[in-house]
Amino acid sequence: MAKHEFPKVETRLYINGKWVDGSEGKAPVTNPATGETLAEIHLGGEKETQEAIDAAKAAFPKWSTMAPSERAKVMNKMADLVEEDAERLATIMTMEQGKPLSQAKGEIQTNVENLRWNAAEGQRIIGDIIPSPDTNQWQVRKQPVGVVGAITPWNFPSNMIVRKISPAIAAGCTVILKPAEETPFSALALMELFDKAGLPEGVVNIVLGEASTIGKMLSESDDVRKITFTGSTEVGQTLNEQAAPTLKKVSMELGGHAPFIIFPDADLEAAVDTLIETKFANNGQVCTSPNRIFIHKDIKEKATDMIVQRMEEVTVGDGLDDPTTGPLINQEGVEKVEEQMKDATEKGAKILFGGSKMTDGDFANGNFFEPTVLDGVTKDMDIFYEETFGPVIPLITFEDEEQVIKDANDTVFGLASYFFATNIHTIDNVSNKLEYGMVGVNDTGISNSATPFGGVKHSGFGRENGTYGVEEYIEVKFVTIRTA
Ligand code: ADP
Repeated sequence: MAKHEFPKVETRLYINGKWVDGSEGKAPVTNPATGETLAEIHLGGEKETQEAIDAAKAAFPKWSTMAPSERAKVMNKMADLVEEDAERLATIMTMEQGKPLSQAKGEIQTNVENLRWNAAEGQRIIGDIIPSPDTNQWQVRKQPVGVVGAITPWNFPSNMIVRKISPAIAAGCTVILKPAEETPFSALALMELFDKAGLPEGVVNIVLGEASTIGKMLSESDDVRKITFTGSTEVGQTLNEQAAPTLKKVSMELGGHAPFIIFPDADLEAAVDTLIETKFANNGQVCTSPNRIFIHKDIKEKATDMIVQRMEEVTVGDGLDDPTTGPLINQEGVEKVEEQMKDATEKGAKILFGGSKMTDGDFANGNFFEPTVLDGVTKDMDIFYEETFGPVIPLITFEDEEQVIKDANDTVFGLASYFFATNIHTIDNVSNKLEYGMVGVNDTGISNSATPFGGVKHSGFGRENGTYGVEEYIEVKFVTIRTA
């Protein structure tokens, strides 16, 4: 396996434009491919969270009234610096998170696009003049919501941050960010560059430490006017409860359990290629990962053979060697996949490929699980209803269009869904009836700078990216002016 020295990167908190030591000790961060400690981060607590809230509050009046073009200049500079430093940022990400280096580089490029897209969009937050019945002037002004608390997960340790920060600061908000404890260095490395780009003090602050303490303070504070969260449904529910008394705005991007339906008239080769590519991206640790593969009975055997054949080409290893897929984030992640596999096989599912934890040789100290195909999945199995954050393709056979729509919707989640078909009636009908925030038809490209990303039901609410994403950071103010 590749050996690489961990790049030098900040380990402290960033508050009011300064790097500060944490008052709550330090914690190690490990490489999920090797089990090695990469470095230790500083931990803060209530004291630092309060300082960060104060800093963001103090920075808000100036940042929110700065010319949008001036904010755009800073953001474009941030984008340039991120682009120039892509190699280092990607290496840091792969070493702390595990994903293949090319995917890490792709994520950094997405950051660059998000920053530039929102820098431009921040200059087009345009209000309205509404015709009034008399001589009054009816105006709709759009203003930033205020201080934002952002809490992000480890699976996209860089872009989950940028897709929140970019629209927030473009709209004129200021931010306190709490990145995931598994992957803090991607956040700190970005912050080094944002600081270098001239982002004024207090506009973005980073606190590290006990998640529940920081989360509680951010969600309960009256000074924080918006919480944006990506992570598990359980934590999202807690944050919502904590945020309710202060009636702040909330956006929640939570779990998913995406169906991937292959209809009999589908371009099978394209469907299988897309499935393999999408499923093993980030080793299946994506809230939009295809998790229940419904295949029509007429093509089931052929499609299954094609999938199993394609599995031979899927490689596993240290992300630095750029395999198809890397390790899972931690041992608990491996155990969860093992539990789902055990439950499914005990209830009659058959393993067609893979199926086990990888413990030999190079894999001994990492969190590796074999890319797996599981056939004969039914509704009595946990895997049908629980999100699988791992490299498992569960196959389900279906016969009828309306029934498969019902089964695809038979989940508390409603984030991403996909299907492959060519019949226009099927395409229209299924797109209409899938109860999901996003539908990919013959395509899984649902995450783009310009398009709304988000879910319904237990997958949360609110949208990220695009014009819809910027609106999440804006309040609409109605002004009526009597002129005569
Ligand atoms: P995952 O299962 O993907 O790790 P989590 O919801 O546990 O999802 O974590 C997502 C983010 O939420 C991380 O930054 C984590 O530290 C944070 N987090 C975990 N528990 C809490 C909590 N009680 N309050 C606020 N944030 C939390």
